[in-house]
Amino acid sequence: MIVLLFGPPGSGKGTQGRLLSKWLGIPCLSTGDLLRAAAEEPTPGGRALKSHLAAGGYATDVMANAIVRKRLAQARHGLILDGYPRTLAQAEYLDDVVATLELAEPVALHLRAESEVLVDRLAGRRQCPACLRIFSNGAHECKDCDVSLVRRDDDSQETVRERLEIYARVTAPVLEYYGPARRIDFDAHRAELEVFSSLQAALEPVLGSYGTLRKRY
Ligand SMILES: [Zn+2]
Repeated sequence: MIVLLFGPPGSGKGTQGRLLSKWLGIPCLSTGDLLRAAAEEPTPGGRALKSHLAAGGYATDVMANAIVRKRLAQARHGLILDGYPRTLAQAEYLDDVVATLELAEPVALHLRAESEVLVDRLAGRRQCPACLRIFSNGAHECKDCDVSLVRRDDDSQETVRERLEIYARVTAPVLEYYGPARRIDFDAHRAELEVFSSLQAALEPVLGSYGTLRKRY
């Protein structure tokens, strides 16, 4: 099966992606990971992508689409995609690929959270300057490294608000594209494991229609 994971920064999307990946036994790939992997391939395409990204270029729809298509064609049991499709053009492309490769329709999971809650969450995060671990539980020091935690520049309130606004603007048309019929929304204000339980509960009926959990898509 193909799971599309949507959610703003701070919604816990990364954590849920890891939990789902373990539970479903399929890889969770972020667009960033896919691009970095593709840029390491010793092919003319890989080298071109690498120099494009190294020059600070963003991946175009064409680049992201080509990479996702390749991964979908290779995926044996399915994929969780985190950060794709990011644009309407990518969403339409994905539907074409799914039809061409005769895969089951993707399931879109959307973690919803209020911006103010996310600002508080992200602005409250601290990082250990030594081991780079991120703490979100109000800790003041890293016990492993015995140093005081610091706030990352990325997590200042202003930067967080800006990231959330960009996310909302970019993602709105894609979420609309999937619509209520193809998308399941979740309240991401809850504890991680509570959110995960509701994701499992929502996916179980869908899994049933594919026979077994690990059956091809
Ligand atoms: Zn540390």
